[in-house]
Amino acid sequence: MAVDAPRHSAVGTLLDYASERALPAGTLVQVPLGRRQVPGLVWESASDSPLAANRGTAPLRPVTAVLDALPPLPADWRALVEFAATYYQRSIGELALSVLPPDLRKLDNTQLLRRLSKLPQSAAPVETSSPRPEPPTLNEEQRAALAALAVADRPALLHGVTGSGKTEVYLHAAERVLEQGRQALVLVPEINLTPQLEARFAARFPGRVLVSLHSGLTPAQRLRHWLMAHLGLADLVLGTRLAVFTPLPSLGLIVVDEEHDPSFKQQEGARYSARDLAVWRAHHLGVPVLLGSATPSLESWQRVQEGRYLRLPLDQRIGGGALPRVRLLDMRPLSRSSAGSGDSRQERVLAPELLTAIEERLARGEQSLLLLNRRGYAPVLHCSACGWKSGCPHCSAWRVFHKQDRSLRCHHCGLSEPVPRACPECGNLDIAALGRGTEKLQEQLASLLPSARVGRIDADTTRGVGELAQQLRAVHDGDVDVLVGTQMVAKGHDFRRVTLVAAVNPDTALFSSDFRAPERLFALLMQAGGRAGRDAAQADRSEMWVQTWNPGHPLYAALKKHDYIAFAQTQLQERKAAGLPPFAALALLRADARSAQAAAAFLQAAADLVLEQAAPGITVYAPVPPQVAKVADVERMQMLVESPTRGALQRCLAQWLPALHGLRAQHKGLLRWAVDVDPLAI
Ligand code: ADP
Ligand code: ZN
Ligand code: ZN
Repeated sequence: MAVDAPRHSAVGTLLDYASERALPAGTLVQVPLGRRQVPGLVWESASDSPLAANRGTAPLRPVTAVLDALPPLPADWRALVEFAATYYQRSIGELALSVLPPDLRKLDNTQLLRRLSKLPQSAAPVETSSPRPEPPTLNEEQRAALAALAVADRPALLHGVTGSGKTEVYLHAAERVLEQGRQALVLVPEINLTPQLEARFAARFPGRVLVSLHSGLTPAQRLRHWLMAHLGLADLVLGTRLAVFTPLPSLGLIVVDEEHDPSFKQQEGARYSARDLAVWRAHHLGVPVLLGSATPSLESWQRVQEGRYLRLPLDQRIGGGALPRVRLLDMRPLSRSSAGSGDSRQERVLAPELLTAIEERLARGEQSLLLLNRRGYAPVLHCSACGWKSGCPHCSAWRVFHKQDRSLRCHHCGLSEPVPRACPECGNLDIAALGRGTEKLQEQLASLLPSARVGRIDADTTRGVGELAQQLRAVHDGDVDVLVGTQMVAKGHDFRRVTLVAAVNPDTALFSSDFRAPERLFALLMQAGGRAGRDAAQADRSEMWVQTWNPGHPLYAALKKHDYIAFAQTQLQERKAAGLPPFAALALLRADARSAQAAAAFLQAAADLVLEQAAPGITVYAPVPPQVAKVADVERMQMLVESPTRGALQRCLAQWLPALHGLRAQHKGLLRWAVDVDPLAI
């Protein structure tokens, strides 16, 4: 039985229970664990469990309840869970139960039967009166991609810029599978950011059953959709990373849209990559997998170079629309000319040329989109008399000034307080906001362009249910002339009237300590640029402006030419020289403690254990604090483990991690530890 217990606790492996009748593998049950009742899944049948034979005299505890209203989870699903648990170093039970819909754990057999009886009874295409929209005739590249996919013997990477017709290829590939009576699974980064995609699939396949799976659903909806997939009643599943674990009895195709997107990596618990698991699952089942992106992850790109993935190029934008012209705006002369006039660089947030370009759009009734990856009004408040800054008392981070509700908010622990009237240290009344966030940019634009309707979309404006959809609609309906936003607005939206996209201050990512920061910046800027000129009629007027203090940077040179391939090539050379992924495999051991010393001591002791293993090729780096070391009074440290191959890393982790469980007892100050295999953010 797989029960929900962490891998490194004493009950991390499969447990044995007694049942009067034979239970097939994959059956959901309730079992006693200690004094609790917990959900479990039958993993192996009794006769072939090695534990059963070795059990000796201790009597097995009986299964409390069998939820056999639910058809057993199939073998291929169990294989996927078992692989993921092993690879990401979790227990099978913990992973298996965490990827089931939460409601499933709460229902008894009768309740479950009732839910099942409410589902539609067949997946047969229903007659609908709505006419099926005529799909466009595919172009040469799209036809070639589909033909290649049909016979591909390895994962396919559909590589094309925004508007090159990738989604149309997904739709055709899905159609082929549906016609064979099989199911298709489409994974997207964040479904609430792309409601249009769901609508497009639904419109293309009227009469077919499409369900979505993501964290925005109510628990009841999520269970219902999951059950329809599991019972084979749904033809198409569209979901976020968690949907990779959907049981699908007749799965025929997996699509991963925007495969480079970091949100495919789970950031807590079992830190799995849904993209990588999708590839594993498709391979295991022998069905095609299609990864799509304008800026593939360097991992996938390197696999194309090695011939392990097949590249399917879409080099033309549909309708021949040009990509926006990229203009690099050298901000250095501007900062120099205003040197000496106080914090002038703050005020000159927008170059005069950019302002003029926005005014031109305004006059023509077109829209502009300004990207700034920092929400709030100003990242920090500052007292010029004594040097006080608005630090968070519980985190190693500044509290951000939010003007709308005049609060100082920590974005890490959530602490929020009213803005002090005077400096809390010296009483000075003149405390100033340093730097700028989206709120301030919106305010400045509104005062510089009094006739413009300036909108803003970021995590602060979209907290409430439906707020994001409503704000996006306002942009589509033309109720906004200038839109300010974080990277949220760079994704997926099909804004027809945007002809100018500007990145206000993207340089910080060039000098980040995270080696993946340039890759993410390039993808973000390419994606943001793709928002401009989606309407071919306006495409040749479309521009992407980048304000930079480093106009000579090779990343921007590649961006100017929309040259992903050149960018990927230089990045891969650098990664190879530095021995970084995809030329090495990494794992990150994290430790949280009351003091940095305690966290470091645990990691150091853990490092000593690896050295004792004398694993060939394994390098363990010194423990270091992450970018924000303290959060909510917890000190965090991390330690990188590097290996030349994934296989060697897996062997090392399998030996090493069980020993850390014992080590924990000797480190009293330690709160928790966790391992992140193939970490994305370092
Ligand atoms: P991507 O997913 O790469 O951004 P889409 O598939 O959304 O590209 O295509 C962009 C637009 O062009 C969509 O409105 C789509 O309906 C349309 N389109 C796609 N392929 C064709 C085609 N072969 N002929 C005409 N229009 C097409
Ligand atoms: Zn002061
Ligand atoms: Zn804080």
